[in-house]
Amino acid sequence: MKKYLQKLICMICIISMVSLLFSSCSRRPILYQSMDTAMGTIISQTIYASADEKSAQGIMQEMMSCIDELEQKHLSWRLETSEIYKVNANAGEEQGTEISDLLRDALSQCLKVYAASDGAFDFTVGSVGRLWNIDTWANTSYTDEQITFVPPTDEELAAAMEYVGGDRCALDGESVALPEGMQLDLGAVGKGIALDELRKLLQQQEEISGGVISVGGSILTCGSKPDGSNWNVGIVNPFDTSTNLGTLSLSGDWCVSTSGDYERYVEVDGVRFHHILDPHTGKPANSNVKSVTIICSVENIPNHAGLFSDALSTACFVLGVEEGLKLAEEFGAEALFVDGQGKIFMTDGMEQYFYLSNEAK
Ligand code: AMP
Ligand code: MG
Repeated sequence: MKKYLQKLICMICIISMVSLLFSSCSRRPILYQSMDTAMGTIISQTIYASADEKSAQGIMQEMMSCIDELEQKHLSWRLETSEIYKVNANAGEEQGTEISDLLRDALSQCLKVYAASDGAFDFTVGSVGRLWNIDTWANTSYTDEQITFVPPTDEELAAAMEYVGGDRCALDGESVALPEGMQLDLGAVGKGIALDELRKLLQQQEEISGGVISVGGSILTCGSKPDGSNWNVGIVNPFDTSTNLGTLSLSGDWCVSTSGDYERYVEVDGVRFHHILDPHTGKPANSNVKSVTIICSVENIPNHAGLFSDALSTACFVLGVEEGLKLAEEFGAEALFVDGQGKIFMTDGMEQYFYLSNEAK
């Protein structure tokens, strides 16, 4: 009887070891990738998930819906369905517009960057942005001689500038009110806000052990790879956008945002008019910066690493190297600038993450 029991225990042990081995094999994360468009840009997803193809595709589809919803319900100034559209349409009305918690939180963070950057980042730049209309021009083939880009006149700019100034955007508990003519434009933070929302979604997915999601030029790294190696994020060479200037090697959860004069622009007679405006002049920022990359660790800025990396990259582009480096440090972010002569400047903390590519050496 004793012998029989010993045999039985031994059998049970073997069976449980084998099933443990099999279950851990089936749980090893698999790499899934997808590419799609939303927010007027390319969204690429790379995730490691211990899920089958169908559920992994489902998760990636959920991510896309999250970005679409952000754009359509909250952030777009173009779509009538969005809160920002309604806030802008109600400009001049004293009682303002009731807004969601998401938008109120985003605007209050934007106000912090507006104040800290002395208005270099200003989300009320909409009236001037529409005058330049760079986004539309950048997507237009203007080789046809009939179509010529004409910059706005100084008078037109001065008139539109009357409506710019984040300090006149009144945000209270539940609503926001704008003075007449003011138009909000969250183009400088929309992708960053998307990264923050996507990160929350990813965290809820137990089957996902890590991933990298790119929303245009803004990138979220999350969790880890099965082999434990770091995430590599390329930084575009602003003088030759088909190549990389270098790579960031990041471990864990980070948000990376780049603002550059190569992203959206029109060139007339050798003069480049790009999409990042200096809110003090109303003209494309002229700070001798070609591109700025900001990285924010989620550990340092738990809920807003995406929003801050995006807002700060725009602010730093406008401020230039010296002031920009100070601003980034103030927010616990790391920055890398490429100036008009191709020289690279970084915060001290950035040096441990950045690797210059061989071609750029
Ligand atoms: P980004 O590419 O993130 O630097 O954002 C640029 C976009 O933000 C532009 O296309 C405008 O919609 C908007 N924008 C331009 N200049 C500014 C500025 N100085 N502050 C805030 N938003 C801006
Ligand atoms: Mg930005």
